[in-house]
Amino acid sequence: MTASPTIAAPRLEPGWADEVRALARRRDAVLLAHNYQLPEIQDVADHTGDSLALSRIAAESTASTIVFCGVHFMAETAKILAPDKTVLIPDAAAGCSLADSITVDQLRAWKSEHPGAVVVSYVNTTAAVKAETDICCTSSNAVEVVASVPAGKEVLFLPDQFLGAHVRRVLERENMHVWAGECHVHAGINGATLTAQAEANPEAELFVHPECGCATSALYLAGTGAVPADRVKILSTGGMLDAARESHASSVLVATEVGMLHQLRKAAPEIDFRAVNDRASCRYMKMITPEKLLRALREGRDEVHVDPELAARGRAAVQRMIEIGQPGGAE
Ligand code: SF4
Repeated sequence: MTASPTIAAPRLEPGWADEVRALARRRDAVLLAHNYQLPEIQDVADHTGDSLALSRIAAESTASTIVFCGVHFMAETAKILAPDKTVLIPDAAAGCSLADSITVDQLRAWKSEHPGAVVVSYVNTTAAVKAETDICCTSSNAVEVVASVPAGKEVLFLPDQFLGAHVRRVLERENMHVWAGECHVHAGINGATLTAQAEANPEAELFVHPECGCATSALYLAGTGAVPADRVKILSTGGMLDAARESHASSVLVATEVGMLHQLRKAAPEIDFRAVNDRASCRYMKMITPEKLLRALREGRDEVHVDPELAARGRAAVQRMIEIGQPGGAE
């Protein structure tokens, strides 16, 4: 008998979310969804959060399978932290332009130019790059992590130039070298857009992710008094949720990927949240669809594998990130 095709035609019945839940129970799977996922994926997941929060949950979960609705490096990080669990991602082609902006060979060459330097990597990196890293960081603990490196030691910070510039400005650290990588989504949220939006919405608070190209502009606007300093908040995505719950503003401009608006609106329905750039949508994050999530649960794919030797080398750097991380502190 000829084998039938393994992928059923996409068919989203009203009860698809119930089917997802039933299949997850049958597989003993926990469903994790990043804040930038489609709203329907966020709503069906067991846990929604930033990459740090989800890494912690992956490490502590008692489920035998983790289904990671996010991009590939996040699923790899879950596998590094939970090597004995089965880790599935609904589409293994969901990459990250920021993680792709430095290869392990480029990092090795950079290290050879700065012998003895301490390598601090943002969590958006491949497992191979993490294996060459001393400490991983998130956007909320990046300042703290770099500050923990003895002042006389050089620091190689990668891969995000905007987050690196933010850390260097805060610490006024001269011996910190920053890799010129960027995320295509965050780079698209620029200072000109932010300035125009701030002028058009004079009452609004500004929530800015430090990976955004506009973080410098936001600080500049606050510094010149164009926007009162207490209205500009440089926040990780987890920090944005905390700030939303505490805010008394009637409207907030949000400078990060648009998927974040869903959780913010749930956290504070009375606030009018608007994207600084409503085209700032990560095409990789949006590759995870309900159809692919169903397929992942029905067929046990795409399974994520990390070479055990690489995983062992990357684990210490990731564990330091988790220990130092503040609650809710990554992309
Ligand atoms: S928004 Fe940017 S940094 Fe985040 S996953 Fe997408 S490409 Fe990577």
